[in-house]
Amino acid sequence: MAQPRVSFEFFPPKNLAGSFRLWDTLKVLAPFEPGFVSVTYGAGGTTRALTHEAVTAIQQNLGLNVAAHLTCVNATRAETLAIAESYRAAGITEIVALRGDAPDGAGGFRPTKDGFASAIELTRALSDIGAFKIRVGAYPDSHPDAASMAQNIDHLKAKFDAGADEAITQFFFEADSFLRFRDACAKAGITQPILPGILPIENWAGLCTFAARCGAQVPAWLRDAFATARRDDRCDLLATAIATELCSDLVAGGVEHLHFYTLNRPELTRDICTALGLSARAPLAQVA
Ligand code: FAD
Repeated sequence: MAQPRVSFEFFPPKNLAGSFRLWDTLKVLAPFEPGFVSVTYGAGGTTRALTHEAVTAIQQNLGLNVAAHLTCVNATRAETLAIAESYRAAGITEIVALRGDAPDGAGGFRPTKDGFASAIELTRALSDIGAFKIRVGAYPDSHPDAASMAQNIDHLKAKFDAGADEAITQFFFEADSFLRFRDACAKAGITQPILPGILPIENWAGLCTFAARCGAQVPAWLRDAFATARRDDRCDLLATAIATELCSDLVAGGVEHLHFYTLNRPELTRDICTALGLSARAPLAQVA
């Protein structure tokens, strides 16, 4: 089997214990030599400073390519562009540009007065700066705000037309969902890479809640499999097996790069990478 490239998503730690957990996660996963790692931006823009600190600390200390997530929520255009400028000044050249959702978790999106009204607008403004590799979100199972799959794909195309370089998908559980979506995007004229987002299932109940909110399909066979695995206390084993099979099917379908949602827990992602035949190379070296 061809060896895929990998990348990893983390969230910014909120306290000292969280910082140690992120550091431990990086120690385990950095030896897989990710093409980049990314750091999320809390819902509603709640982790603005923490994201900035985590992004710059990872880049300065570990020398990894780090992509900072940035949303349109709760900030004026000037404030959002000032954050982008501070990344540029710190030598960060990769941004994941997102619309975001309402800060109160109520779903939906309300633009801030004088703020960016969509991911398309944000992407265009970042692209005009000319300093960033820009990735955007994509939705193989569609998105709750999309009227149809065709509109979902048109919207993604508009983000590429606005200057995005690559897309990363929301998580999904059936390789066909992604491969069909990728092929439909190609048919719609999208030529840029679309990286599948892989979520190793750490927490079944949490996953079901989140999937319902973001429109990701949870197939019946997966529900049945987890019901049995929970009874037998074998959830980690099942999660590893399912994600490894999904990744293998994607690679067999021509996918060259897998993006993992790690939730700052390295074990499942490490085991999946290992099962895919990727080897952890040199141990993590601190740059500074
Ligand atoms: P868009 O692509 O702009 O919109 C999503 C869909 O909604 C589109 O496919 C389109 O069909 C429809 N739509 C949007 N606007 C319109 C319109 N005007 N008319 C008709 N249809 C429309 N959230 C965070 O808060 N922080 C993060 O760090 C974060 N990281 C993420 C990383 C990835 C890889 C992904 C996939 C999502 C992430 N999210 C994050 C979640 C994201 O903010 C939500 O999914 C949000 O609802 C959509 O953001 P977007 O930029 O993908 O939106």
